[in-house]
Amino acid sequence: MPGRSSVQGAPGVAGVPALSDMRVTRVAAERVAVPLAAPFEVALGVIDTADTVVVRLETDAGLVGYGEGAGVTFVTGETSESVLGAIRLLEPVVVGQSPFAIDHVHRGMDQALVGHGSAKAALDLALYDLMGQAAGLPLFRFLGGVAGRVEIDHTIGLADPAAMAARAAELVAEGYRELKVKAGADDAQDRAAIAAIRAAAPAARLKVDANQGWTPRQAVLLADEYAKHGVAAIEQPVPHWDRAGLAWVRSHSPIPVMADESCFTPHDAADLVSLGAVDAINIKLMKCGGIYPALQIDAIAEAAGVTTMVGCMLESRLAIAAGAHLAAARPNVKDADLDSFRDFDDTSLVRSAFAFTPPVIALTEAPGLGVDLAW
Ligand code: MG
Repeated sequence: MPGRSSVQGAPGVAGVPALSDMRVTRVAAERVAVPLAAPFEVALGVIDTADTVVVRLETDAGLVGYGEGAGVTFVTGETSESVLGAIRLLEPVVVGQSPFAIDHVHRGMDQALVGHGSAKAALDLALYDLMGQAAGLPLFRFLGGVAGRVEIDHTIGLADPAAMAARAAELVAEGYRELKVKAGADDAQDRAAIAAIRAAAPAARLKVDANQGWTPRQAVLLADEYAKHGVAAIEQPVPHWDRAGLAWVRSHSPIPVMADESCFTPHDAADLVSLGAVDAINIKLMKCGGIYPALQIDAIAEAAGVTTMVGCMLESRLAIAAGAHLAAARPNVKDADLDSFRDFDDTSLVRSAFAFTPPVIALTEAPGLGVDLAW
């Protein structure tokens, strides 16, 4: 594998362009099955791996950049096959370009293909990896940040309330201070779960994610209940298409409202803030198409007095590192929900990325994403 931190194309070497002049020469992409740390059982059987797509961009200066595209069918409408197909379609937009021409590349990608945020994110992440390496800076510094430490929360999945409370106690014992609680399947269970979790984790900052599971009226009634337990925010209470409903919930809810599935692109963010529909936005690199549109969403939000969270899909430490660099770089990012890597055993793909001591991701000073891949 080519060196990740060594600069092979120093200026003045005959036949090798300066890093500022480098061009992408090749796009390699591959589907990788990442084993889950512990298999889990669902109605259709036992899931023991998660598919993701890794991208390697090679350049004429000798630098190599890595990215990841992890689509989730029920959120982004993408599969690993569709991500691979989209990357092949977008390849001509990227090959021959300077990684620094990021605006031009994104315009080209959006003209060539609507949507497909995970495929675009895979290419975008690799371009930012290259830019950071060429600058000799870890990505969070390249993006303007000063400290590479990010506190993350951990998600508690839907289960019976006693099991959810037991998980909350475990996570607090591990060191987590913020917990994200899944809800939205059954009102009575949601009420029982939050009471049990609050009793098990009295000092934790709690957020509740309904994943579009409520009507607007249901959301406000439940928010009144959640307020009694000191819940800090409710995420995506209503269906993604119901922006008027989201705005209604925000104006009637005693606790802040965050959009997730309602906000994919910078256009969505502009629409949501102009409707007064949100207090916060969950930015995911796989929804929006990478760091470049994520920065736009964060800027739109910040200008409107709306905070952001950086969330994730089923991503390995490669894309999680990118999310952490973004979160570390931007002061308006107030929350980081970057916990998916904890469910994976991705060591066959990612040799090293960042240090993690719950609840803090500590990014390295290696240039770019700082991720060493076994690929
Ligand atoms: Mg969510």
